[in-house]
Parts: sequence; structure tokens; C-alpha cells
Amino acid sequence: MKDSHRATSWVVATGNAGKLSELRRLLAGFAPRLLGLADVGPVALPPEGDEYAANALAKARAVAAATNLPAVADDSGLEVDALGGRPGAASARYGGAEASDAERVARLLRELADVPDARRTARFVCVLAFVTPEGDAIVVRGTCEGRILRAPQGAAGFGYDPVFVPHGAASSMAQLSPDEKNAISHRAMAIAALRSALARAAS
Ligand code: IMP
Repeated sequence: MKDSHRATSWVVATGNAGKLSELRRLLAGFAPRLLGLADVGPVALPPEGDEYAANALAKARAVAAATNLPAVADDSGLEVDALGGRPGAASARYGGAEASDAERVARLLRELADVPDARRTARFVCVLAFVTPEGDAIVVRGTCEGRILRAPQGAAGFGYDPVFVPHGAASSMAQLSPDEKNAISHRAMAIAALRSALARAAS
């Protein structure tokens, strides 16, 4: 782990374009050159289960082993209190693996149609795994509390951003600029925790 900063490149182990662009921005400046999966050739990502940490670790381990480079993987999701925490780690598969972001959002709004504003609380969760080619691993977590709107607002970001209003904000996550989202998001909180953990591991 001490040598992780000396690697010339890290691989961001995600096939999700929205996550890749946010992680690139959040890691810029403290990580070495960042490669995406498209830069390293085909790597089969393992099928996902119900646990963020296990999913993130499996993705990062697969990519670190295939590329011989440190890999960072994100497993994330939206936890809605009125749905008992669903869709959670299954957020990308909510409504079926082939559903679009808009279809997933529409399903969520249908399920919450009768839920009053005071009970529409939710949070985004991001678990990041950093794995070296030697197999050393760090797993960290970040959250962003908020509530679910009654209709989508805004076109930035990805996934459930148009229906999620972060705590203390006046607009949806999809109405924030990339820098504004990156100041408060679950992914930003997880990256901050990863930076601290890597600094501790290197000292
Ligand atoms: P996975 O980590 O590949 O299982 O996918 C996580 C899913 O959670 C994404 O496909 C989105 O639907 C949702 N999600 C995670 N992070 C965000 C975010 O920052 N904004 C909106 N939706 C998100």
C-alpha cells in the first residue's frame, strides 16, 4: 500500500459514464494518471450482489488483477426510507437491467406516489474500494442525505439526480453544476475518506 502513489496510473473500474466523469474530477490532483476501462482493454466485471462493499471490492480486485495497476471501484445506490432502504445496492437494476435512468426514476415516483413530503427522506450511498495489484485493499463509504421530489427537475448528473434534493439545498442534484455536486455528494465524501486512508497507509 505504501507504493500505491508511485504507480504511474490508476484504473477507475466502472462502466458507468456518469460515475467515471465524477470520479475523474474528484481524483484529479491527488491520484496519478487515471485510466478508464476503455483504456485498458476488455475486463469482465463480476456480477453484482446486494452488498455495496462486496460489489466494490469485487470490481476493483478484478480490474487490479487484470491490469496490474491499482484500481478504484464505486458501488453506490439510493436508499429511500419509505421503501425500507430500497433500491439500495440494486439501484442500477431497479425496474430491470435494461431499464433507462428515466424509467427507473418513473418507477420510483410511482412507488412513492402516496408518500407525503415529510416521509420522502432518502440518501445516496457510495462505497469505494481501492485495490493494489498486490491485493491490498481499502474500503470507504460516503453518504449524502436528502429527499425525493414528486417530479424530475434538471438535466445534469445521472441516475436519480433529477428527483433527489440534497439536505439544505433548494434544487435537485441534477440542477447543480458538476463542482456543486462534487462539493456535497456521497461520492465526494467517499473520496475524502479514501484520501485520508491512503495518507495514513503511506505514513
Ligand atoms: P452500481 O454502483 O453500478 O450498482 O450503480 C449505482 C446506481 O445507483 C446508478 O446506476 C444510479 O442509478 C444510482 N446512483 C449512484 N450514484 C448516483 C448519483 O450520484 N446520482 C444519481 N444516481 C446515482
